[in-house]
Amino acid sequence: MRDAEHRPLSYFVAHEATHVMQARAFGRFAAPLYPVWLNEGYADYVGKTGDFDLTKNIALLKAHDPALDYRRSRLYRGYHLDVAWLMDRCGMSIRSIYANPPSEQTLLQTLMADEPACAPKRL
Ligand SMILES: [Zn+2]
Repeated sequence: MRDAEHRPLSYFVAHEATHVMQARAFGRFAAPLYPVWLNEGYADYVGKTGDFDLTKNIALLKAHDPALDYRRSRLYRGYHLDVAWLMDRCGMSIRSIYANPPSEQTLLQTLMADEPACAPKRL
């Protein structure tokens, strides 16, 4: 199993339970209205709570590690990085991210910068 070290059974239960909560918060059929990186990244953020090194994963992204690329790894780790960046480093709530999610490309460009910076907060 891919990334088994970071994905015990409790991870899968919490990940899927998060999708149930997303459906209750936004509607059963709302998932396609939001970016995949956000739906899956937040489910991974919850599923792996406390088991994610933001700085290390940014370094792996910059090194083009396949684990951070869903298309190559089939892991949500890169999406998790996007959500962890916005919530843990930029201080955004999950509701504020869902209200105005940045594009995956914008997040990638931000995280690949020499010194990634949070976008200015809207007033
Ligand atoms: Zn999922």
